[in-house]
Amino acid sequence: DNKILVGVYGPRDVHPKHMSNPDTGILRVRYHMEPFSVGERKKPAPSRREIEISKVIKEALEPAVMLENFPRTAVDVFLEVLQADGGTRTASISGACVALFEAIKNSHDDQRAIKEHVAAVSVGLKDGHSLLDLDYDEDSTAETDLNVVMTESGGIIEIQGTAEKNPFTKNELDAMIESASNGIADIVSFQKSCLS
Ligand code: UDP
Repeated sequence: DNKILVGVYGPRDVHPKHMSNPDTGILRVRYHMEPFSVGERKKPAPSRREIEISKVIKEALEPAVMLENFPRTAVDVFLEVLQADGGTRTASISGACVALFEAIKNSHDDQRAIKEHVAAVSVGLKDGHSLLDLDYDEDSTAETDLNVVMTESGGIIEIQGTAEKNPFTKNELDAMIESASNGIADIVSFQKSCLS
Protein backbone atom coordinates (compact mmCIF):
# COMPACT_ATOMS: atom_id res chain seq x y z
CA ASP A 1 0.00 0.00 0.00
CA ASN A 2 2.89 2.41 -0.52
CA LYS A 3 2.13 5.36 -2.76
CA ILE A 4 5.18 7.35 -3.78
CA LEU A 5 5.43 10.11 -6.34
CA VAL A 6 8.80 10.40 -8.14
CA GLY A 7 9.91 13.46 -10.10
CA VAL A 8 13.21 13.44 -12.00
CA TYR A 9 14.54 16.70 -13.47
CA GLY A 10 17.63 16.84 -15.64
CA PRO A 11 20.31 16.40 -16.65
CA ARG A 12 20.28 20.21 -16.26
CA ASP A 13 22.56 23.11 -15.32
CA VAL A 14 23.75 23.23 -11.74
CA HIS A 15 23.03 26.27 -9.59
CA PRO A 16 25.10 27.47 -7.84
CA LYS A 17 27.67 26.77 -10.58
CA HIS A 18 30.55 26.05 -8.21
CA MET A 19 28.71 22.88 -7.14
CA SER A 20 29.04 21.41 -10.63
CA ASN A 21 31.78 18.94 -11.51
CA PRO A 22 33.60 19.38 -14.86
CA ASP A 23 34.27 15.62 -15.03
CA THR A 24 30.86 14.19 -14.26
CA GLY A 25 27.20 14.86 -13.65
CA ILE A 26 25.88 14.79 -10.10
CA LEU A 27 22.82 13.09 -8.71
CA ARG A 28 20.80 14.84 -5.98
CA VAL A 29 18.05 13.01 -4.14
CA ARG A 30 15.37 14.25 -1.75
CA TYR A 31 13.15 11.67 -0.08
CA HIS A 32 10.28 13.24 1.85
CA MET A 33 7.41 11.71 3.75
CA GLU A 34 4.19 13.73 3.74
CA PRO A 35 2.77 14.38 7.24
CA PHE A 36 -0.45 12.57 6.24
CA SER A 37 1.32 9.50 4.78
CA VAL A 38 1.52 7.64 8.09
CA GLY A 39 -0.92 6.77 10.89
CA GLU A 40 0.61 9.19 13.38
CA ARG A 41 1.09 12.61 11.72
CA LYS A 42 4.76 13.23 10.89
CA LYS A 43 6.38 16.65 11.27
CA PRO A 44 6.84 18.21 7.82
CA ALA A 45 10.47 19.29 8.35
CA PRO A 46 13.12 16.85 7.04
CA SER A 47 14.06 14.40 9.78
CA ARG A 48 17.40 12.66 10.25
CA ARG A 49 15.71 9.51 8.96
CA GLU A 50 14.73 11.25 5.72
CA ILE A 51 18.22 12.71 5.26
CA GLU A 52 19.76 9.25 5.72
CA ILE A 53 17.26 7.59 3.38
CA SER A 54 17.93 10.27 0.73
CA LYS A 55 21.63 9.38 0.88
CA VAL A 56 20.92 5.63 0.67
CA ILE A 57 18.69 6.17 -2.39
CA LYS A 58 21.28 8.39 -4.09
CA GLU A 59 24.00 5.78 -3.63
CA ALA A 60 21.65 3.05 -4.85
CA LEU A 61 20.81 4.91 -8.07
CA GLU A 62 24.34 5.98 -9.02
CA PRO A 63 25.27 2.59 -10.56
CA ALA A 64 22.24 2.82 -12.90
CA VAL A 65 23.44 5.72 -15.06
CA MET A 66 26.69 6.94 -16.60
CA LEU A 67 26.79 10.33 -14.94
CA GLU A 68 30.20 10.89 -16.51
CA ASN A 69 28.34 11.34 -19.84
CA PHE A 70 26.76 14.55 -18.48
CA PRO A 71 29.62 16.62 -17.03
CA ARG A 72 28.69 19.89 -15.25
CA THR A 73 25.03 18.89 -14.95
CA ALA A 74 22.79 17.68 -12.15
CA VAL A 75 19.96 15.17 -12.11
CA ASP A 76 17.48 15.93 -9.32
CA VAL A 77 15.28 13.17 -7.95
CA PHE A 78 12.35 14.14 -5.71
CA LEU A 79 10.44 11.45 -3.85
CA GLU A 80 7.21 12.29 -2.08
CA VAL A 81 5.75 9.51 0.04
CA LEU A 82 1.98 10.02 -0.08
CA GLN A 83 1.08 6.81 1.72
CA ALA A 84 3.52 4.61 3.64
CA ASP A 85 3.15 0.93 4.41
CA GLY A 86 6.68 -0.34 5.09
CA GLY A 87 9.60 -0.46 2.68
CA THR A 88 9.24 3.06 1.35
CA ARG A 89 13.00 3.37 0.74
CA THR A 90 13.08 0.19 -1.35
CA ALA A 91 9.93 1.15 -3.29
CA SER A 92 11.47 4.60 -3.85
CA ILE A 93 14.60 3.09 -5.39
CA SER A 94 12.66 0.75 -7.70
CA GLY A 95 10.32 3.55 -8.85
CA ALA A 96 13.06 6.18 -9.17
CA CYS A 97 15.05 3.93 -11.51
CA VAL A 98 12.13 3.94 -13.98
CA ALA A 99 11.69 7.73 -13.74
CA LEU A 100 15.45 8.28 -14.08
CA PHE A 101 15.68 6.19 -17.26
CA GLU A 102 12.64 7.97 -18.68
CA ALA A 103 14.15 11.41 -17.94
CA ILE A 104 17.49 10.51 -19.52
CA LYS A 105 15.79 8.98 -22.55
CA ASN A 106 13.78 12.18 -23.03
CA SER A 107 16.77 14.50 -22.85
CA HIS A 108 19.42 12.33 -24.57
CA ASP A 109 19.00 9.86 -27.38
CA ASP A 110 22.19 8.25 -26.22
CA GLN A 111 21.14 4.95 -24.68
CA ARG A 112 24.72 4.35 -23.56
CA ALA A 113 23.97 6.79 -20.75
CA ILE A 114 21.94 4.06 -19.12
CA LYS A 115 23.94 1.30 -17.46
CA GLU A 116 21.52 -1.20 -15.99
CA HIS A 117 18.39 -1.39 -13.93
CA VAL A 118 18.58 -1.23 -10.16
CA ALA A 119 15.79 -2.33 -7.87
CA ALA A 120 15.30 -2.94 -4.17
CA VAL A 121 13.12 -4.97 -1.85
CA SER A 122 12.90 -5.80 1.85
CA VAL A 123 13.19 -9.32 3.23
CA GLY A 124 12.75 -10.54 6.77
CA LEU A 125 12.25 -13.37 9.20
CA LYS A 126 9.26 -13.81 11.46
CA ASP A 127 8.77 -16.91 13.64
CA GLY A 128 11.42 -18.63 11.52
CA HIS A 129 9.54 -17.93 8.27
CA SER A 130 10.97 -15.85 5.50
CA LEU A 131 9.04 -12.77 4.33
CA LEU A 132 9.47 -10.84 1.09
CA ASP A 133 8.47 -7.17 0.63
CA LEU A 134 7.28 -6.54 4.19
CA ASP A 135 4.31 -4.30 4.86
CA TYR A 136 4.16 -2.08 7.95
CA ASP A 137 2.64 -4.75 10.23
CA GLU A 138 5.25 -7.31 9.16
CA ASP A 139 8.05 -4.75 9.33
CA SER A 140 7.17 -3.75 12.87
CA THR A 141 6.92 -7.33 14.17
CA ALA A 142 9.62 -9.17 12.21
CA GLU A 143 12.68 -10.39 14.11
CA THR A 144 14.91 -9.54 11.19
CA ASP A 145 14.49 -7.00 8.44
CA LEU A 146 16.94 -6.48 5.55
CA ASN A 147 16.74 -3.93 2.76
CA VAL A 148 18.51 -5.22 -0.34
CA VAL A 149 19.45 -3.17 -3.42
CA MET A 150 20.74 -5.02 -6.50
CA THR A 151 21.54 -4.41 -10.13
CA GLU A 152 19.77 -6.22 -12.92
CA SER A 153 22.81 -8.47 -13.40
CA GLY A 154 22.69 -9.57 -9.76
CA GLY A 155 25.37 -7.32 -8.26
CA ILE A 156 24.69 -6.26 -4.69
CA ILE A 157 24.72 -2.48 -4.21
CA GLU A 158 23.59 -2.36 -0.60
CA ILE A 159 22.32 -4.55 2.21
CA GLN A 160 20.98 -2.79 5.31
CA GLY A 161 19.81 -4.94 8.17
CA THR A 162 19.48 -5.56 11.85
CA ALA A 163 18.34 -8.34 14.18
CA GLU A 164 18.66 -6.97 17.67
CA LYS A 165 16.99 -9.68 19.73
CA ASN A 166 17.19 -12.73 17.47
CA PRO A 167 20.51 -12.88 15.63
CA PHE A 168 20.23 -14.71 12.31
CA THR A 169 22.57 -17.36 10.92
CA LYS A 170 24.68 -17.17 7.80
CA ASN A 171 22.40 -19.78 6.17
CA GLU A 172 19.37 -17.60 6.93
CA LEU A 173 21.18 -14.61 5.46
CA ASP A 174 21.93 -16.59 2.28
CA ALA A 175 18.25 -17.63 2.05
CA MET A 176 17.08 -14.04 2.54
CA ILE A 177 19.44 -12.77 -0.16
CA GLU A 178 18.21 -15.50 -2.51
CA SER A 179 14.60 -14.48 -1.84
CA ALA A 180 15.44 -10.77 -2.34
CA SER A 181 17.24 -11.58 -5.56
CA ASN A 182 14.13 -13.37 -6.92
CA GLY A 183 11.91 -10.46 -5.85
CA ILE A 184 14.26 -7.96 -7.50
CA ALA A 185 14.23 -9.96 -10.75
CA ASP A 186 10.41 -9.65 -10.78
CA ILE A 187 10.63 -5.90 -10.09
CA VAL A 188 13.16 -5.41 -12.91
CA SER A 189 10.78 -7.19 -15.33
CA PHE A 190 8.01 -4.86 -14.19
CA GLN A 191 10.27 -1.80 -14.59
CA LYS A 192 11.03 -2.89 -18.15
CA SER A 193 7.35 -3.36 -18.97
CA CYS A 194 6.68 0.18 -17.63
CA LEU A 195 9.36 1.63 -19.90
CA SER A 196 8.46 -0.22 -23.09
N1 UDP B 1 6.74 5.05 9.64
C1 UDP B 1 5.86 5.84 10.37
N2 UDP B 1 6.28 7.08 10.79
C2 UDP B 1 7.53 7.58 10.52
C3 UDP B 1 8.42 6.75 9.80
C4 UDP B 1 8.00 5.51 9.38
O1 UDP B 1 4.73 5.43 10.61
O2 UDP B 1 7.85 8.71 10.92
C5 UDP B 1 6.28 3.74 9.16
C6 UDP B 1 6.00 3.75 7.64
O3 UDP B 1 4.89 2.91 7.33
C7 UDP B 1 7.28 3.15 7.10
C8 UDP B 1 7.57 2.10 8.17
O4 UDP B 1 7.25 2.75 9.39
O5 UDP B 1 7.10 2.60 5.80
C9 UDP B 1 8.98 1.60 8.21
O6 UDP B 1 9.84 2.71 8.34
P1 UDP B 1 11.41 2.58 8.10
O7 UDP B 1 12.07 3.73 8.78
O8 UDP B 1 11.88 1.20 8.41
O9 UDP B 1 11.57 2.85 6.51
P2 UDP B 1 10.97 2.08 5.27
O10 UDP B 1 10.77 0.63 5.67
O11 UDP B 1 9.69 2.76 4.89
O12 UDP B 1 12.01 2.22 4.20
